[in-house]
Parts: sequence; structure tokens; C-alpha cells
Amino acid sequence: MIVALAGGVGGAKMAHGLSLALTTEAAGPATLTVIVNTGDDFDHYGLRICPDLDTVLYTLAGLANEATGWGVVGDTTAALDMLRRYGEEAWFWLGDRDLATSLLRTARLSAGEPLSAVTRGLAQALGVGARLLPMTDGLVATIIQTPDGELAFQDYFVRRRHQDVVSGVRFAGVEHARPLPEALAALTQAEAIILCPSNPLLSIEPILQMEGMRAALAQADAPVVAVSPIIGGQALKGPADRILAAQGFEVSPLGVARWYGALLDGLVLDATDAALAPDIAALGVRPLVTQTIMRDDADRERLARETLAFAATLAHGQASHPTGAAEDDARMKQG
Ligand code: GDP
Ligand code: CA
Repeated sequence: MIVALAGGVGGAKMAHGLSLALTTEAAGPATLTVIVNTGDDFDHYGLRICPDLDTVLYTLAGLANEATGWGVVGDTTAALDMLRRYGEEAWFWLGDRDLATSLLRTARLSAGEPLSAVTRGLAQALGVGARLLPMTDGLVATIIQTPDGELAFQDYFVRRRHQDVVSGVRFAGVEHARPLPEALAALTQAEAIILCPSNPLLSIEPILQMEGMRAALAQADAPVVAVSPIIGGQALKGPADRILAAQGFEVSPLGVARWYGALLDGLVLDATDAALAPDIAALGVRPLVTQTIMRDDADRERLARETLAFAATLAHGQASHPTGAAEDDARMKQG
């Protein structure tokens, strides 16, 4: 079994690549479990919206809007248009088909189904073979701290277009939320654990903050390999570059390696950043240099195959991580 940790767009592309690579495997399909960030989830017009879960769901189902990376391909906006006629700002883009997903999810949650069961039902109905697990069935909300005060995640990310300076991030409710037992069990059985090229601080960190998650990664037999979302000194999309810099980390795969610290056995970085490979190796993290921009399905599948082949050459926990402890201390202070 392969386990991937994912946020939205970057995570979904990698998870899709892994599912393509695994289903065409000669040895028969290995199973893929994707543990998805739910810190971005929020309530809107009475509906429970789970942006990262839906992005991964639509992408794995072949329904994603390739232009945006999120939302359903060919979706219409009749509901949003009507909301605007009522004078609503309707700042969160929700297409009509996308709305149907949130309607059904909200109804099922209201009837008492946990988010994991609701997600399983949606994924099955859309023919997704991979197992999609929310990071928790509990409630965790990512809160963005700025010099002017705190912002709810979607207020920061969508409404204010992630332009605010991020001085810190906290995950409200994280002390009460529990990861899914299936997620922890999957990590124990995994052959490889992949940290998708998602935003390390906004998408992967909330998953890692689930109780027992870091320990499960540390104790797993499988190697832990991240794919860098930072290429040539910037994020391909979103604020990962600015947030890493604000936390005092280099905006490069080296900064990503330092951010994850002792958690990592390997890091996949783009050929553009090949010169950083020796510095990454010096941290005790094995580098793999390749093309990491996923423009189409072929890119996704190739990157996934190379990442899995690379992981298979790594043993877990053998890296020396000379700076691991210091990096843990340097980690962003929560709350
Ligand atoms: P969000 O939840 O939709 O914001 O998405 P994620 O957190 O999963 O992913 C955002 C990150 O994906 C950004 O930092 C991008 O740099 C990264 N990303 C997007 N597409 C690619 C790609 O094709 N290759 C790599 N390496 N990173 C990507
Ligand atoms: Ca997200």
C-alpha cells in the first residue's frame, strides 16, 4: 500500500499520478490511500464545504477542471448568479455541480454520518479506486495569523486572495480532533509514504498535527518522501513561497527539506534546482532530481513512477539528519 498526504490542487495532481502509476502496475494494482487536509473546511450558506477533499475527489474521478485545478469540469454558475441577484457577494466560487456535492455531504453529515463515511460514499459513486480519508472526522479549522489579527482560512485564501502577511498559523480544535484509525493503520502497512507537493504549512502541517501522526510517520517501516512544491524559488500557485519565507525558511527545495526536517528520508526536487541536491543530501535527506511540473496526465504518472521507484531505494530512518533537532526547534510556533 502507498499512502499519500495531500492538500488540494498540488496534492490532487500527485495523488492522481500515483493512482495512474499503481493501476497500470504489472504486478496488479497496489492500493493507494490518500489522507487529505480538512483544515480548510468551512460552513457557507449552511453547507459544509471541504475544498481539498473535493479537489482530490474530482481529480481522481477525472472530473476536475484542468484550467483551475479545482471545481468540476464544465460546471455552470446558475446558483451563484442567483445569489448575486439577491445582492450576495458570493465570494466563494461554487459551481452548480460542486454545490450538489456539498448539499449531499451536508445532508449526510446532518443525518449523523461521519465525514469519512460520507467521503467514501462520494468516492465510490464517482468510481474512485483509491481510498480517500479526511485527516479527521473531527472539526479542525486553520486560522491565519496576520499583523492585523486572525483570519478564517477561506477569508484569507479566497476572499482576500492570500495577500496578507502570514505571521503564523494555528489549527483550532486540533487538540480534540483525532486522526482516523484507518489512516494510522495504513501508515504502518505502507510501502512508501508520499508527502505530495502541497503547501507544507497550510496543507500538510494540519495533517501532521493530528495526534499520533508524526509518531506514526517516524515509526513506519516505509520511507517518507516529499515532492517539493517550490520550484525555481517560487510556488507554482498560491502562497507557499511567501509563507515559507515569512517563517524564516529558504524558498527552495532546501527550505522545504529543512521545514520537514527529520521526518523526511527523501525529497524529489525539480531539475531547475539541481544545484541544491548536495545541500539537501548534507541534511541527511536523499535527493532525487527530475522534472516535477505536472502539466498533463503523462507528467503526473511519470513523476509518480519515479517517486515510487526512488522510495523503493530508500530505507526509513537511516538518514543521519545532523540538523534534525535544530530544525524541529525552528518549526513554526503554533498558536
Ligand atoms: P491547495 O490546497 O489547492 O492550495 O493545494 P495544495 O496545498 O495541495 O498545493 C499547492 C501547492 O502545489 C503550491 O505550493 C504549488 O507550488 C504546488 N504545485 C501545484 N502544481 C504543481 C506541480 O505540477 N508540481 C509541483 N512540484 N508542485 C505543484
Ligand atoms: Ca487547500
